Amino acid sequence: MVMWRLKGCPRCGGDFYVSCDMDGWFEQCLQCSYRIELKSLVEFKEPVLSGGGDRAGKAKKVKSK
Ligand SMILES: [Zn+2]
Repeated sequence: MVMWRLKGCPRCGGDFYVSCDMDGWFEQCLQCSYRIELKSLVEFKEPVLSGGGDRAGKAKKVKSK
């Protein structure tokens, strides 16, 4: 999947496309190949489940909060 960010390049004002490779997400300018790593997009990944192996407790209703 490729997303576009038009005229987002700080260098030439060109159009970025947003894509990902092994290193993660990045934006790259079509015109000048200026590249920005998008570390902040990590938060869009599926949330990490803490713990695990406690599925039995999930069926119970939480009384207190
Ligand atoms: Zn550019």
